Amino acid sequence: MSDIRNIVILTGAGISAESGLRTFRAEDGLWEEHPVEEVATPEGFRRDPALVQRFYDERRAGVQAVQPNAAHEALGRLDREWSGELLIVTQNIDDLHERGGARRVLHMHGEALSAWCTSCDARHRWETTLLDGPPCPACGQASMRPDIVWFGEMPYRMGEIFHALSRADLFVSIGTSGAVYPAAGFVQHARESGARTLELNLEESLGSRMFAETRLGRASELVPRWVDELLRGLQHG
Ligand code: NAD
Repeated sequence: MSDIRNIVILTGAGISAESGLRTFRAEDGLWEEHPVEEVATPEGFRRDPALVQRFYDERRAGVQAVQPNAAHEALGRLDREWSGELLIVTQNIDDLHERGGARRVLHMHGEALSAWCTSCDARHRWETTLLDGPPCPACGQASMRPDIVWFGEMPYRMGEIFHALSRADLFVSIGTSGAVYPAAGFVQHARESGARTLELNLEESLGSRMFAETRLGRASELVPRWVDELLRGLQHG
């Protein structure tokens, strides 16, 4: 694998499923029994802020109650041992990559454990509730919302992501349904830039045909095996 130096990995809810966090059900548009328009759009927040704050209060508590699994740990090992460029772009709002030891992580859809003040634009690590309207530690206004990118909002750090995709020798997608754009389009961009492409997922996804190779199975088994292969210099993709 001596010709692979720059790697971009995209992860989705499937990598955290075996830690006990439910995936988003693209087929019926439900996230933890709620329609996504209700809990993951700016319109939903305007319509019923208390419902949305309560939903993310629950997600924030849920994230802190679970542990990283073997897939997160394997990517942590890859981050420690890979001397080339690496960017783990996650759609997940949990912090399981970081707790699994990964450092080169970019949360394109925001983070459950972060709050964003819409008055002064400050972001703060947040581990408790936002439902009761706490004052922003920076400006004192009660205008904190979950630091989550909702449908219709611009994902974070897209310039950085596309720059990394343009330079990637290998693009790997793990546990994502390929239903949510722009992340679903990353494979095409990587291919056009000449990267090898590999998908690791429980089942065929909407984007499977875009990948040179798809391996089906549980992330906790597929990811450690793939990281092992990569670090031992075996060829694939
Ligand atoms: P998704 O829920 O749409 O798709 C999950 C994919 O993971 C599916 O293709 C499924 O087959 C696969 N999968 C399920 N269990 C798996 C396992 N054990 N091993 C490997 N693959 C498995 O997820 P998405 O594509 O990430 O889109 C969901 C959106 O909802 C994201 O934007 C994300 O922000 C949000 N979300 C986040 C979390 C989280 O942070 N953990 C959880 C649910 C939803």
